[in-house]
Amino acid sequence: DTIGANLDRAVAAWPDREALVDVPSGRRWTYAQFAADVDRLAQALLASGVAKGDRVGIWAVNCPEWVLVQYATARIGAIMVNINPAYRTHEVEYVLQQAGISLLFASLSHKSSDYRAMVGEVRGRCPELREAVFIGDPGWDALLARATPAPYPELSCDEPINIQYTSGTTGFPKGATLSHHNILNNGYFVGEMISYSEQDRVCIPVPFYHCFGMVMGNLAATSHGACMVIPAPSFDPKATLEAVQRERCTSLYGVPTMFIAELNLPDFASYDLSSLRTGIMAGSPCPVEVMKRVVTEMNMAEVSICYGMTETSPVSTQTRREDDLEHRTGTVGRVLPHLEVKVVDPATGITRPRGSAGELCTRGYSVMLGYWNEPEKTAEAVDPGRWMHTGDLAVMREDGYVEIVGRIKDMIIRGGENIYPREIEEFLYGHPRIQDVQVVGIPHEKYGEEVLACVIPKDAADPLTLEELRAFCEGRLAHYKIPSRLQILESFPMTVSGKVRKIELRQTYAGD
Ligand code: ATP
Ligand code: MG
Repeated sequence: DTIGANLDRAVAAWPDREALVDVPSGRRWTYAQFAADVDRLAQALLASGVAKGDRVGIWAVNCPEWVLVQYATARIGAIMVNINPAYRTHEVEYVLQQAGISLLFASLSHKSSDYRAMVGEVRGRCPELREAVFIGDPGWDALLARATPAPYPELSCDEPINIQYTSGTTGFPKGATLSHHNILNNGYFVGEMISYSEQDRVCIPVPFYHCFGMVMGNLAATSHGACMVIPAPSFDPKATLEAVQRERCTSLYGVPTMFIAELNLPDFASYDLSSLRTGIMAGSPCPVEVMKRVVTEMNMAEVSICYGMTETSPVSTQTRREDDLEHRTGTVGRVLPHLEVKVVDPATGITRPRGSAGELCTRGYSVMLGYWNEPEKTAEAVDPGRWMHTGDLAVMREDGYVEIVGRIKDMIIRGGENIYPREIEEFLYGHPRIQDVQVVGIPHEKYGEEVLACVIPKDAADPLTLEELRAFCEGRLAHYKIPSRLQILESFPMTVSGKVRKIELRQTYAGD
């Protein structure tokens, strides 16, 4: 199916069920209303000269119009380009030029970002950009007023429909080109694994610009007739829990740091979260302690862990409803239906035996068409056998469940010993005075690298010392894994998708 055809099916099955709710503005759409607004916008795009294959950018925080643009571009076969709302002028200019965007949708402003001013600045340097339409501005209505009935172009599900940029956790973001077939199937199966139906209401505090929001959120919900609930334009822990309570959401998404922020709200206990049953945690490793609290204190007994990457639409493995807590905290689940995963020796490409670590590779319908206009980078990531090399280190257990050990790029090599930061982080989470911790390797003359722990203390007025930290590890961690350096921080440098940029921690504290 194409994304448009799939929406038609949802409208036929559940015309009067709610499809979309925007909590900040109070606006609501049933499936029939949503599809009608999508059609109007699609017709307006055609009338504005947007043709199949043209790139349409969206540089906006979460709002209903984001979702309308997503479906309207899919309807007409235009390629939607997701642009990170945290970008500034030089970054947006790069994407506008690199993707050859002819029409750009953007928020007017959000917090300190004045999108209209920034677009004004770069416009002269982006000759292909014909038009910019700001959401919530009269220009949006003017665009819609152009809508005139016209037939939609013939579409095939293997054509590119979307360019999504990776989070930029390990370097500069890369634009993954994805088809209807890639992302619609993936969204559908992610929803299947957590038994979505038209009864579900999905609270989506993660950014739409990222695959977590637009595929695991929007496409998973609509392909099962569930309702998408937008709690706020950008992540806000209070607004998220309020939306769950007010809209009686059954499912809640987040990366681990978002759940940590929600659980740490001073008035956390006052929210009624009894409507929740499931949700998805993904994007980075989840500390076991956090997972336990999510299951018991947030009522998310069926919470699912997903593992994946933008380049694979994104999800490759996921925990299932029936999995016990050990599998749900210790693994990222099993491979999704119709996909393959394997763990190989990164040097030789030979498959590793079960139980031993290597690079995780994914193959199947979910693997991207390629990086947009970057054939060399595509060839480095996707081998001739169509396996996507993820850059993640993993172990496949005897029972087929996959454990993520860390990223190859984050592995610390100290005096010839391989150290996985995650293992040390998990251990340090058990310290009563540590709220959050990141472990990175920094250059060391003698050992090559040494272990730095960056700690956010529970009480900023009473941070712990390196001696205390080392005493806590002594006798319980191998000596070479015990951090030799400590940095107390108030927060970590993050991507908009909510991941810690370890690379920045490494660069900032390398020389000290
Ligand atoms: P970039 O590729 O630009 O450096 P990124 O890899 O963070 O950024 P994404 O595509 O958003 O960009 O994220 C995919 C990565 O996120 C995976 O390769 C993996 O390292 C990590 N990841 C995703 N899900 C999980 C999970 N459940 N547990 C651990 N790590 C995860
Ligand atoms: Mg990546």
